Amino acid sequence: MNPSKGTSCFFVGVLCSVLLGFPGNLGSAPSRKEKFFTSRSVHYEILSDVDEELCRKAAARLEQAFQCFRTALPYQKSPHTRLKVRIFSTKEKFDEYNQSVHRAKDPHRSFVYHHYERESAKCEVVAFVKSEAELMAGLQHEAFHQYFRSIIDYPPQWVNEGLAEYFEVVVIDENRRFVSRPAPWLQKWRTEKKRLGSNTTVLIPVKDLMSFSKEEWEEQSNSYCESWALVYFFLHSDHAEWKKRFTAYLAALKSGSPREDNTRLAMKAAFTGANFEELERLLVEFMEGL
Ligand SMILES: [Zn+2]
Repeated sequence: MNPSKGTSCFFVGVLCSVLLGFPGNLGSAPSRKEKFFTSRSVHYEILSDVDEELCRKAAARLEQAFQCFRTALPYQKSPHTRLKVRIFSTKEKFDEYNQSVHRAKDPHRSFVYHHYERESAKCEVVAFVKSEAELMAGLQHEAFHQYFRSIIDYPPQWVNEGLAEYFEVVVIDENRRFVSRPAPWLQKWRTEKKRLGSNTTVLIPVKDLMSFSKEEWEEQSNSYCESWALVYFFLHSDHAEWKKRFTAYLAALKSGSPREDNTRLAMKAAFTGANFEELERLLVEFMEGL
């Protein structure tokens, strides 16, 4: 099935106002006061030390991505406050801010979303300038985590990352439909399948992937790749039974529940009695047909 079919999205008017300001008061302030530009849209507040133009561009792009999140997922709830995104001009400033304000122990390799349960004003995506394409893709990835976790504080790891990878490459086409192009993960899937040999069905048994703790998931070399593939299959294959189960799975996740409970209970609610061997066979067939 063409990924663009069956999903449509209408733009909301993007109201941007640009103000000069300073970083929000979050924990202890950074050591040096920076001048920050701000752009506010319907759902986002973008802050950056770069310029107004970047703030406006990021806000417009993330409003589009937000409509894609809302269209693809079964949640009606909207975040209570504007979602905050902060973009630094350099990696050094990004590291300094994460350490001083968010108490990050080690420098983050790339963009990050900081989540604080029941303290939405403190939650924010923090990024730094890369090429425009990389910046926007990275922002869409982290903004998805921010949106999802504004609804479900601790989602199962595979679905949080699988969906973030899916939305990282989402674009709005000329007919205002959203299209998530097969990510570079498709190439990786094919390469890994070849490397593992013809007897392999999937890279990681699907039931294991969906049951892993965050730590177990992070130990697997193919966890991003297969999580993306599974999400892509659930959202775009023609197999209605699996799509229905995936929607029920997302709907079964609870806002304040620990990650272990969400991982176990959503699986029980939506995949009890599921034939995982059949799912793996269909997943491989689908990936090979893309
Ligand atoms: Zn992520």
